Amino acid sequence: MESIVTTDFAKFGYRELEITGKLLIIYAEYGVSFLGDGLTINLNINSGYVFLSDEDFNVGVLEDATAHIVQFFSCMECGHEGTQEEALEEDKDFLTYEGFCSKDCALKNM
Ligand SMILES: [Zn+2]
Repeated sequence: MESIVTTDFAKFGYRELEITGKLLIIYAEYGVSFLGDGLTINLNINSGYVFLSDEDFNVGVLEDATAHIVQFFSCMECGHEGTQEEALEEDKDFLTYEGFCSKDCALKNM
């Protein structure tokens, strides 16, 4: 099965390259505290989503409204995805539960 995530810029469209450019400029200027070594810019071919990912699978995405790079979480228990801000709007909280979206999900993994 072909991987739907690529780091091959030749496969990026104009819009995706534009997002890549913004990510690199913000990264160069401010750095990103939650991202470590083995950092790449990736494109999900299916969704058109462009994101930074390090070797520990921490993911950063461009938050358009603030022009900041924010952490994107994926709950290891239920698969719920989003940024911390999006999570809080849905009564979830990735930062409090160390990557799990809720107390329920965190408790199932203790
Ligand atoms: Zn969850």
